[in-house]
Amino acid sequence: SVTSVQYIALNVLTVIILLLSRCCDANRKLLVFLIDGFRYDYMDDLQNLAGFREIVENGVKVDYLTPDFPSLSYPNYYSLMTGRHCEVHQMTGNYMWDKDTMKEFLIGTNPDSRLPMWWDGSEPLWVTMQKLGKRVYMYYWPGCEVTILGVQPAFCEEYVYNPSEKNLIDSMENALNMLKSDKADMAGIYYEKIDVEGHHFGPHSPEIQRAIRSLDQAFQTLNQKIKEKNMRDDINVVLFSDHGMTDLKWMEKVIELDNYIDMTYIIKMMDRGPVVSLWPKQDKFEEIYQNLSTVDNMNVYKKQEIPDRFHYKNGRFVSTLTLVAEPGWFITENKAKLPFWKNGTEEAEGWQHGWHGYDNEFMDMRGFFLAQGPDFKTNFRAGPIRTVDVYNVLCKTLGIEPLPNNGSWSRVECMMRSSAGAVRAALIYSCLLPLLLLTL
Ligand SMILES: [Zn+2]
Repeated sequence: SVTSVQYIALNVLTVIILLLSRCCDANRKLLVFLIDGFRYDYMDDLQNLAGFREIVENGVKVDYLTPDFPSLSYPNYYSLMTGRHCEVHQMTGNYMWDKDTMKEFLIGTNPDSRLPMWWDGSEPLWVTMQKLGKRVYMYYWPGCEVTILGVQPAFCEEYVYNPSEKNLIDSMENALNMLKSDKADMAGIYYEKIDVEGHHFGPHSPEIQRAIRSLDQAFQTLNQKIKEKNMRDDINVVLFSDHGMTDLKWMEKVIELDNYIDMTYIIKMMDRGPVVSLWPKQDKFEEIYQNLSTVDNMNVYKKQEIPDRFHYKNGRFVSTLTLVAEPGWFITENKAKLPFWKNGTEEAEGWQHGWHGYDNEFMDMRGFFLAQGPDFKTNFRAGPIRTVDVYNVLCKTLGIEPLPNNGSWSRVECMMRSSAGAVRAALIYSCLLPLLLLTL
């Protein structure tokens, strides 16, 4: 029979097993990929994309990822990393203007874009991690060099325009080594090429196909390196995009504001394209609003009229008038101000053939989400999720408590491999084993 000493010893053993399983969960590493402008259907031809295919078979694929409005980069970078809607985290555009300080936020590398006021509206995951004493390595991730809420980044390979494939492969190798050697708990890698090619040549071009295939090559290398380094059971890999892409027709669908309003009545205009922010002079406000209300193929909203479903209108930097174009349409002052792109010689190469930023429910704006690793089910196909849902998944795999957010755990729970099973087994063991021994 079992003495009370043996019984206590067994229970102590059980507690140790439970603690060990907790410790090892928390020790799991996370590698995140942010693939700019990768539309949900770009990987539909899985037969010819061995890298993507392996991740899908080994992990989780959702039907699509619905971006936050506007379906632009910076707003969604921040929604992904905070789990909050744009009007909550305050990063409401690629181009923003603060009327009090007259400062501008401009996409790309602009000193004023690093001012804390644009970033301090919410705490992104990499900052939370650092505050918890964990180590994060970020590669080309827009904004990783910024001091946010007083936290200086520990390691940030600063964003450069359109990082090369070599940059991507080198970052992967470096990130895996940092994670493997316990120098990092989480790493994030940003890649822009898919968005750049999508803008230049459109989502149906041979150029975008080529870019997707070379990204696939990089993921084949990733899968191989994870196996070589024997990291498959220790590392979760989560991959997602910020938005999709739609065709722009050469000169056909342009809305020229010049034709409807006197632009000298506009104090400030930010961005061109699907979403335009206007601050008209106060005494001309109603006139401008009325004139723009007659324009086809777009909507004009006063701040409080912006649909609630955009989760946008309460943003600090939202303009007094917001214009939103119908899919495929492009808003600009006039055709002299169109988004031509330039080749290496600074000569205008041509009209851009793809764009995004439209209504976030527009199908072409949808992004993708994939995940693989010990915390995820294998070969699991999940329904659509939203950009704000991703944050909870990342926190779960890192074993940290998510900050309050707009994501829904119930939309993502299904993709996680349940650890409840292991805990239950340990509990059953702790109760049954003494009984089992008693019978011997
Ligand atoms: Zn873009």
